[in-house]
Amino acid sequence: MHMREGRGERFAGAPALGAEPVTAPPDERLPVLGPAFSACVLILGIWDLVANGSQTPSSLLLRLALVLLGIPGYAWPGGAASTLGRWLLVFTTHSLALVVNAVSLAHGLTEAMPVLVISVLVAGLAESRPRRCIAILLPSALFHAIAGALVLPQLVWLASVAASAVAVAMAMLIAAANGSIREAAWRHEQQLLHACRYDSLSGAMSRAYLTELARRDVSLARRHARPLAVAMIDIDHFKRVNDTHGHATGDAVIRSLVDTCRASLRQDDYVGRIGGEEFVCILPETGVDEAFACAERIRTNVEASLLAAAGGPVRFTVSIGVAVLCGHDGWDALLRDADEAMYRAKAGGRNRTTVASDARCDACA
Ligand code: GH3
Ligand code: MG
Ligand code: MG
Repeated sequence: MHMREGRGERFAGAPALGAEPVTAPPDERLPVLGPAFSACVLILGIWDLVANGSQTPSSLLLRLALVLLGIPGYAWPGGAASTLGRWLLVFTTHSLALVVNAVSLAHGLTEAMPVLVISVLVAGLAESRPRRCIAILLPSALFHAIAGALVLPQLVWLASVAASAVAVAMAMLIAAANGSIREAAWRHEQQLLHACRYDSLSGAMSRAYLTELARRDVSLARRHARPLAVAMIDIDHFKRVNDTHGHATGDAVIRSLVDTCRASLRQDDYVGRIGGEEFVCILPETGVDEAFACAERIRTNVEASLLAAAGGPVRFTVSIGVAVLCGHDGWDALLRDADEAMYRAKAGGRNRTTVASDARCDACA
């Protein structure tokens, strides 16, 4: 192991690291609800065959064809279709099969009204966005109204249209309630995830999350023979800062260090807090010279910054150990090298960057 030490020039800050993009979970209920819907349509068909045998067979094939037509919506091949398109396809074809069911029987449209209303309400439960819900329900509601106008007496038709309008309105209310419950649950999940992944004081990644990402990046870098560097940062004489200026100022120093790291790193780099006043920056696609320059950028930016505190301005410095991936078994070995290099920076007088290079790697020599 040999060391290199230095105090590099000051660099302008790179763009700050952004927050992680947050995306809503994909809607994967159709593969379950679609087949359940078709099973209901088919069971109703069998029921009609048993109860009204003579009138049913003529429409059975049409019902079956409509259900078959909607099946691709359960899981569109290649995932090319939008979720709304899939819902529309499934609900329109399957509820049309229900309406056909009803129209084919003498008093079907009035007798089947409860089933149609239930299917509309199920759409409200399944879909959590009211506008989507109305889009899904409109085709079958219109078809139901048109079919009713053709076969039902005027008053009965008006009553069935009113019932179906009330069902659609209720479905939208259910969708809205469903949507707000799902959104609240999703927000809580995101908050929990954030609390696990980020340190509440500094906003840097938690040790667990940093380790998870670092293990993956180290393994990728090893597999593709790509460079990767780690910088271990420790605040110098931090106990003295706390003792002299108080813990609140000590906390502000920690936050200020993380801000400086973020302003000095590239978009793909990340920083985590692995101990009280110890931080680690992961620098993917970074060789030894670039990593050293980056660490020096952080160190000199910290050294130059003046933190306003109640008892007067505070200056602080950091010691940094840099290690680059070269023949290490994995993340733990790499971190150990960076840690050793950081302790050498302390032993060498603090406020400096020390690079630990491994004899196994020519690029680091
Ligand atoms: P060295 O230069 O050798 O690193 O000395 P040091 O004083 O920085 O190191 P030491 O390990 O002796 O002290 C670390 C101090 O960090 C002790 C602890 O109270 C303080 N500390 C740890 N976490 C926090 C925190 O979240 N806030 C504050 N204000 N202080 C913290
Ligand atoms: Mg320290
Ligand atoms: Mg320490």
